[in-house]
Amino acid sequence: MPTSFTSINPATNTPIATYDAHTDAEVDARLQRAHEAAIIQKSRPFEERAARLHALADALESRPDEWGALMTREMGKPLSQAKGEAEKCAWVCRHYAEHGADILSHKTVETDAQRSYVRYEPLGTVLAIMPWNYPFWQAFRFGAPALMAGNTMLLKHAPNTMGCAEAIEQLCVEAGFDSGEVQTLRIDEDTVSSCIADRRVQAVTLTGSVGAGQAVAQQAAAQVKPTVLELGGSAPFIVLADADLDAAVDTAVQARMQNNGQSCIAAKRFIVEAPIADAFTERVAATVDALTVGDPTDPATDIGPMARADLRDTVRRQVDRAVNEGATIAAEAEVPADTDGFYMPPTVLTDVVPGSVAFVEEIFGPVASIVVAADAEDAVDLANDTQFGLGGAVFTQNIERGEQIAQQLEVGCAFVNSMVKSDPRLPFGGIKDSGYGRELGAHGIREFVNVKTVWVE
Ligand code: NAP
Repeated sequence: MPTSFTSINPATNTPIATYDAHTDAEVDARLQRAHEAAIIQKSRPFEERAARLHALADALESRPDEWGALMTREMGKPLSQAKGEAEKCAWVCRHYAEHGADILSHKTVETDAQRSYVRYEPLGTVLAIMPWNYPFWQAFRFGAPALMAGNTMLLKHAPNTMGCAEAIEQLCVEAGFDSGEVQTLRIDEDTVSSCIADRRVQAVTLTGSVGAGQAVAQQAAAQVKPTVLELGGSAPFIVLADADLDAAVDTAVQARMQNNGQSCIAAKRFIVEAPIADAFTERVAATVDALTVGDPTDPATDIGPMARADLRDTVRRQVDRAVNEGATIAAEAEVPADTDGFYMPPTVLTDVVPGSVAFVEEIFGPVASIVVAADAEDAVDLANDTQFGLGGAVFTQNIERGEQIAQQLEVGCAFVNSMVKSDPRLPFGGIKDSGYGRELGAHGIREFVNVKTVWVE
């Protein structure tokens, strides 16, 4: 067990802060507080839960600059995107404060009984294992509905965003939550395992890589505890020959490069119908070449550093392997010289074919892979030729055809003429190796509840 976790500013490779790991005794105390708070939470009326979520939204909205600056410092996303993330967290809190009670109200079902109905009761304490890439959003996306449903939350955040984890816990205290309702755990994987096995934890959710999901789900299954897994993706972005090219190019670059290219739902494979492949490639390459890479606190910056040196090195190696396999670098934006920051040039790869690294692997950085499809049918086949199934997009001016293709995509979230994005009103999640279960929407708030049948004769 490490004794501490140090946050490093990825733009400068300098330490920001060091956080002591929780001792076994501290972890035990936190589990106990969560357990005791869960008993109280269970009988707390919806109005009170909603009031706390509104207060949390107020706290987020009162200082988005502060939360944004913290995220940018710890993981390097451009400051404007980080502030937007804090504001989106407020939205998800308000959404569930306003709609949670309705979604979770008793549902009467006509049967032979005098009365029969379904109740949605909280499960108790949910352990949330979260990644660094959206250090606030991932926690709130799970937390807002889970808390509205009456659960308590233990947040095991990524080691490089412990400052964000602390801020989230403090925000909840400021918003009036009891001390046991939302707590962080500064622990390593071994202690995560013992928490999963602990009888005071009723369920586990993990957002992260496929390997982490497999490891955690196996441990939870051994304890017969439910899990939600939000894992990786290699989202296809299909561009048909009749697409509005301006819109497709602009959205393509945004969909790939947002968050410095480190998003699970980022478009990663651009599958373009042959007649427009050259035009699309030229324009995407020109746009990527012109991106400003640099200090993420500078408003002129489009792309900041990657979050950690090892993540940048992995992406670099993937690009090298792709080129060795025959891919061509069609664009490579300039990165700042004379810096120790973890910068990776935004890159466009062409001549990418099925079976190659740039097609098969998730590239979790600012690298776009362009694949040429013979026709729309071929595009769908290529899109589905992957282990992943999180999101997918199709661009076409024929909306009916776009919706048909959306139906054919093997994904949890299909978008026509838009990039894939999460929205508190709609369910979000994947199939295949991208995981199972849903967050957000009505489905998300029903993941960590006991769906109880009551029959009265
Ligand atoms: P990661 O290395 O899997 O880490 C995610 C979290 O899981 C961290 O808190 C990590 O903590 C923990 N973890 C990893 N292995 C574990 C294990 N064996 N036992 C317990 N905890 C474990 O992922 P990442 O590099 O941070 O994030 C990138 C991946 O997440 C990408 O594949 C991306 O697509 C995916 N992602 C998916 C979504 C989605 O909504 N579907 C959203 C964002 C990211 P430690 O580092 O301490 O092990």
